[in-house]
Amino acid sequence: MEFVFGEKEEKLRAEVRSFLVSYLKGREEGGAGLGSRTEDDFEFAKGFNTELGKRGWIAPAWPKEYGGLGASIYEQMVFNEEFGYYGAPDTGTRGFGVGMIGPTIIIHGNEEQKKRYLPRITSGEDIWCQGYSEPGAGSDLASLTTRAQRDGDEYVINGQKIWTSGGHRANQMFCLVRTDPDAPKHRGISFLLIDDIKNTPGLSIRPLINMANRHHFNETFFEDVRVPARNLLGEENRGWYVGMTLLDFERSGIGGTASQKRTLEKLTQTLKDGPAWKREKYRTKLADFVVSNNVGRFLGYRIGYMQASGMVPNYEASVVKIYQSELGQRIYNFGVNMLGLAGQFVPEEPMAPLGGDMPESYITAVPSSIYSGSNEIQRNIIATRGLGLPRG
Ligand SMILES: Cc1cc2nc3c(=O)[nH]c(=O)nc-3n(C[C@H](O)[C@H](O)[C@H](O)COP(=O)(O)OP(=O)(O)OC[C@H]3O[C@@H](n4cnc5c(N)ncnc54)[C@H](O)[C@@H]3O)c2cc1C
Repeated sequence: MEFVFGEKEEKLRAEVRSFLVSYLKGREEGGAGLGSRTEDDFEFAKGFNTELGKRGWIAPAWPKEYGGLGASIYEQMVFNEEFGYYGAPDTGTRGFGVGMIGPTIIIHGNEEQKKRYLPRITSGEDIWCQGYSEPGAGSDLASLTTRAQRDGDEYVINGQKIWTSGGHRANQMFCLVRTDPDAPKHRGISFLLIDDIKNTPGLSIRPLINMANRHHFNETFFEDVRVPARNLLGEENRGWYVGMTLLDFERSGIGGTASQKRTLEKLTQTLKDGPAWKREKYRTKLADFVVSNNVGRFLGYRIGYMQASGMVPNYEASVVKIYQSELGQRIYNFGVNMLGLAGQFVPEEPMAPLGGDMPESYITAVPSSIYSGSNEIQRNIIATRGLGLPRG
């Protein structure tokens, strides 16, 4: 057993790394990555994605006909690792577009939908957001009540979504809606694609400010929003199963581990440059995190190996999700403490050590054990599907 990438992957890694270093020129996001803090960051992320699009690097593992490179899973992992390590910015194109809706369209979409949507993802043009959660439907997503009624060639949507990350910047939304309120709850749901959400009558997006004081997510309201019936993905009332394909894709990334590695390297450098008493106090704890980070890396590689071998990661991806998110919370907490009082300064403060990334990463790592299926739900998955324990 040899845990190394092949020559081809390492050559690619050098190419990707050299591009990232020259393009980002010190604009790497730190720690967990916060998405775009300002409009300027967002515009920078858009330009970055357009540049990736020209190289076929937005979705390298997708088939060439959809704008990918037909890259192997291992090559895709190289991209994910390097992007994670260098904090490559994103608009929602790579996260929601490539990580979630794109693969779902590839599996469930008809030819027209594939032709219409996939190239606009791989060019960086379309920015997607996810309309799943509702005020009364989070972990128990199948309780969602946002209603879509068929009216001729259209669906008419009424209801509300919440926690719509990046909804204020996206132009496209994928959405789960209830099309049959009388059917058992999992069987009355459909999956709709909503185009040009900024100019869709009746669809309004209102900001929710998170505890890092950033506008990351939103509430989305639908009042008689009309969506063409051709935007149905998969069959009517089978949307739950379409939606679940998407969640399986969301849980297999390894960029987070690479991002944590970079944070540990920065903290190590800070200790090297700092006073001896500080090194004495924090060195062994830092070493512990390096061990854990390596464990996380190999857990991530396992998912890649499974996918490359044609297996579908299931509870294994839940293991990774729990491990990465909780390790991140501990690392950033440690980082803030290690930097001392100044470690609490946010990026806007010029004297903030490490660019103020540590407290933001610490705060924004808190929800990482809630989104993408909370860690309690992931533990339920491991208990039932992984360990074979009965539900009750
Ligand atoms: C930063 C962030 C970004 C997000 N972005 C999006 C987005 O873009 N689009 C979108 O649709 N949603 C998004 N979400 C919503 C996210 O998917 C939900 O927050 C998540 O599914 C949990 O749902 P909830 O918040 O309603 O909590 P609840 O489901 O109400 O859960 C509350 C608590 O109870 C626990 N719990 C619930 N059920 C069980 C159970 N069966 N067993 C054990 N414990 C249980 C949960 O783990 C949690 O601790 C985002 C959330 C966050 C925090």
